[in-house]
Amino acid sequence: MTDAGTGRELNLKPDWLVLSTGIAPGADNPVFSGLLRTTLTADGFFLEAHPKLRPVDLANEGEYLAGLAHSPRFIDETIAHAKAVAGRAATILSRAKLDIAGQVAKVDPEGCVACATCVKVCPYGAPMINDLKKAEIQGATCMGCGSCAAACPARTITLQHQEDGQMTAMLDELLTVGGAT
Ligand code: SF4
Ligand code: SF4
Repeated sequence: MTDAGTGRELNLKPDWLVLSTGIAPGADNPVFSGLLRTTLTADGFFLEAHPKLRPVDLANEGEYLAGLAHSPRFIDETIAHAKAVAGRAATILSRAKLDIAGQVAKVDPEGCVACATCVKVCPYGAPMINDLKKAEIQGATCMGCGSCAAACPARTITLQHQEDGQMTAMLDELLTVGGAT
């Protein structure tokens, strides 16, 4: 055989030749990733939120992955992965109450025309259309990205602590101070 790295001919005489069975991603991964609103890699496995900082988390808070959902791996690696997930889940399940970020989106139902644009654009599945045919945002799921507020055609969604008046005041202050110096 030819060595791909050096281009030289190699003549190997091994006592054993052990082949590993190929592993493909789950056929239903695209369906699950759609339900969870999470991302798959180019190979079709689930993508972690961050390879170094959040290696067993999915993008959404409170959702984790382990083993072959993530990539081909041996059983001992899968067990280590699963233990890491159990530890992450315990940090949530062990608390009597959870704090959430204060910056969440809110809908003023008066202006909502139930167009469902916010439902479609939210990457975290936080908005829903309620029984009164008005959009409602689940604060515990909202990550405060602001996409729904930007996309709402009725401009009836505000992102707490990022409201128009606050932004205008900050810009005014910045431009005033900038002009004075
Ligand atoms: S995008 Fe705005 S108008 Fe449309 S459903 Fe959501 S809150 Fe209501
Ligand atoms: S602010 Fe972002 S995460 Fe929150 S509901 Fe709107 S689109 Fe979803």
